[in-house]
Amino acid sequence: MFYAEDYDVIVVGGGHAGTEAALAAARMGVKTLLLTHNMETLGQMSCNPAIGGIGKGHLVKEIDALGGVMAKAIDKAGIQFRTLNASKGPAVRATRAQADRSLYRIAVREALEHQKNLTIFQQSCDDIIVENDRVTGVVTQMGLKFKAKTVVITVGTFLGGTIHIGLENYKGGRAGDPPSIALAERLRALPFRVDRLKTGTPARLDARTLNYDVMQKQPGDTPLPVFSFMGQVSDHPEQIPCYITHTNEKTHDIIRSGLDRSPMYTGVIEGIGPRYCPSIEDKINRFADKDSHQIFVEPEGLNSIEIYPNGISTSLPFDVQFDLVRSIKGFENAHIIRPGYAIEYDFFDPRDLKQSLETKFIDGLFFAGQINGTTGYEEAGAQGLLAGANAALQTQNKEAISLRRDQAYIGVLIDDLATMGTKEPYRMFTSRAEYRLLLREDNADIRLTAAGREVGLVDDERWAAFNEKIELIELEKQRLKGQYIHPNHVAAEALNKQLKNPVTREHSLEELIRRPEMTYAELMKVPTLGPGLDHAQAAEQVEIQIKYAGYIERQKDEIAKSLRHEETLLPPDFDYGQISGLSNEVVAKLTDARPETIGKASRISGITPAAISLLLVYLKKHN
Ligand code: FAD
Repeated sequence: MFYAEDYDVIVVGGGHAGTEAALAAARMGVKTLLLTHNMETLGQMSCNPAIGGIGKGHLVKEIDALGGVMAKAIDKAGIQFRTLNASKGPAVRATRAQADRSLYRIAVREALEHQKNLTIFQQSCDDIIVENDRVTGVVTQMGLKFKAKTVVITVGTFLGGTIHIGLENYKGGRAGDPPSIALAERLRALPFRVDRLKTGTPARLDARTLNYDVMQKQPGDTPLPVFSFMGQVSDHPEQIPCYITHTNEKTHDIIRSGLDRSPMYTGVIEGIGPRYCPSIEDKINRFADKDSHQIFVEPEGLNSIEIYPNGISTSLPFDVQFDLVRSIKGFENAHIIRPGYAIEYDFFDPRDLKQSLETKFIDGLFFAGQINGTTGYEEAGAQGLLAGANAALQTQNKEAISLRRDQAYIGVLIDDLATMGTKEPYRMFTSRAEYRLLLREDNADIRLTAAGREVGLVDDERWAAFNEKIELIELEKQRLKGQYIHPNHVAAEALNKQLKNPVTREHSLEELIRRPEMTYAELMKVPTLGPGLDHAQAAEQVEIQIKYAGYIERQKDEIAKSLRHEETLLPPDFDYGQISGLSNEVVAKLTDARPETIGKASRISGITPAAISLLLVYLKKHN
């Protein structure tokens, strides 16, 4: 039976990719259905109850700048906020928050339930309907058919999911949820390249059985960071501390003694795990010389007795998990509420996607999130937003949006995936971006909000607040550039107490802020120069834009230079073998990847700048 209503966009899966995708499409005014296994798990954090961190925080701010939900939800659910790398430059500073798992789910669900143009339906999606290589709808577990112009699949770790605890294993999408077997089989029958990955999670502990007196307390930061450009500190619930403890030699001995029953070390698990989020058995194997590893003892919520011991993810048998947990300082009497486990699942090679996240083989079918080989809520949310927006744009007969690498971490993420693919769960790092100085957390709105507004992702309220902020920044920068102080000025006298080199000639306020020992806030405290902006975000921009102007300009020049060739097209049937000087390996890689542009060719691993020069020379000669 076909459902009575047809949709423009159907999003399958209500995790981090799916909720952003559904909200994005609906914000853009198209009729959207979110089809998910279980209403109660909308926005569920499968693993660590935390959002942000280095590289990931940047993605959250970008999602927010494009009107997404993640930053607003964590502002309402964060119980410990920190700014990582606070003492380093603004490019690598990153916000991270520990989440109350259930408050986060509530915030996401509330956003979904209040979103115009969005309907939710609870059922498993078992099949997709394809006619003449174009998706036209989906079929649920009970045989109900929904018609749609586009479909976005965001089913996370559920496709063919197998859960492992020691040598025991069973089918599951994550602990407590069923796997997607029928859909996995259907997608495997399509011409996409498919493989297996794995990820894992630690045992959860009962907070009442831990001894916090012997652990190191870690409070959040003051002043409290805020994630959303539209958020404020008063959005946050009560704040509580995390704690830190460590593994020891005894823990490591227990782990080693259990490796003969480890699914990873006995070859039962074949999928590759996340290199940067390794299991504890992986860590003691890879870093054999270390006799201790740090564990962050993170509460799962304000009213929850569950503790997430971050750092001891494991798929060892339960008896080994029990002994290893109890060998840790402060965990001597710990009760395990949920065992740790690993999960293996299908993912699809993202090189079979266009930059819009539409699949190359089935028109109107988009993939986003963990299904594309990534790991992490933030990476999933970012892809979801883009895929949902592009699915909506397609139904409006408009061109897809894609973000460039110099514009956004989202651009870096999608370009890396679509161009290079991935062999292991992909997570974001600031080191993946060439233009880090421009892609900062603090300016994500300046980089992206206008682009979001253009396609309908950004509402009037955010747009008005953004424009007001930009105006404040520009006016203040002009004032600081135009206002001079003379050595005899009363302000100079006060300033000379703070400055290394005293004011001996006329200086603009802009010049003074450029001095390393001076900040905008300090300068505004000097008599007659302030009070300055009382808009914290605008004040931060004024300082960063003035202090780093030279570096920022240099990076913009570099971008302009590389953009000149970035968009140079490579014919789809190009015979790379005819270019003399290219190694067989380079020819094979280019032939395999068939990059659409020189820019994409240059980012394929193993493609050297010398090879790109040969390509450019050849193209110039033959065009
Ligand atoms: P998910 O959040 O998994 O959401 C998928 C959604 O699709 C769910 O709502 C599900 O119910 C629904 N669904 C699935 N199949 C169907 C279907 N057929 N029909 C309808 N609905 C369906 N990330 C890290 O960064 N670090 C880690 O250490 C880490 N460890 C992890 C450990 C485990 C055990 C798991 C399960 C995940 C872990 N992750 C980790 C990954 C993180 O949870 C995911 O990257 C993130 O949740 C992916 O978001 P997603 O939206 O792609 O998928």
